Amino acid sequence: MATKRPTLARMLDTLEKLHGRTQVEPPRDVLGLILWENVAYLLDDDKRRAAFAALKKRVGLAPARIRAAKPEVLHELAAMGGIHPAQRVDRLREIADVALADFDDDLDAVLALPPAKARRALRKFPGIGEPGAEKILLFTHTEPVLALESNGLRALLRLGFGAESANYAASYKPVQLAVEPLIERDCDARIRAWHLLRAHGQALCKNKTPDCDACPLSDACAFVLRAG
Ligand code: SF4
Repeated sequence: MATKRPTLARMLDTLEKLHGRTQVEPPRDVLGLILWENVAYLLDDDKRRAAFAALKKRVGLAPARIRAAKPEVLHELAAMGGIHPAQRVDRLREIADVALADFDDDLDAVLALPPAKARRALRKFPGIGEPGAEKILLFTHTEPVLALESNGLRALLRLGFGAESANYAASYKPVQLAVEPLIERDCDARIRAWHLLRAHGQALCKNKTPDCDACPLSDACAFVLRAG
């Protein structure tokens, strides 16, 4: 008799046993989350947290403080965030400019906007596309939207949720729609899912070489079943 496929909730519990609860929590305010995204590039969470903490300590997170910071200090901090530090300095300044000019230094006001307007407003910031805007709405506990980043999206697709499209952007909505009814419409439940799926995509369900032999979900995984 065929084994019943576990529910997504059961899969997430399995992932929590495997990867544990996340140790690194991003900030929970709009400006903090935007800076968190932009303060580092292609670095692990611990290094991103260190770069963010250094920015907070040496310059401060307020847009006016970032705008007034000495270029060499910003550059030094941006270098903690990985490659292309000059580009990151520009981005930090751009964030400060947009926050001051378009939002009068009150970014949390964005959260009171209707959902579509809030997404549009957040996308004015560098590094924030649709998934990034949704992550901000989720992590600020504004809207229980099922935000996904690339690792989690890949893991869900391979597990058989949604349909693979030509690229990340085209796959995003179908996967979101497939999973929407399967995870409680609650911000904390969906933040937990975001972390666990991301951890799984980073640790085992890697882009080029998924380690399916080590994966406790392999019996229920569409990718493995397809491969025969
Ligand atoms: S079995 Fe392989 S492809 Fe499927 S979720 Fe696990 S690591 Fe990813």
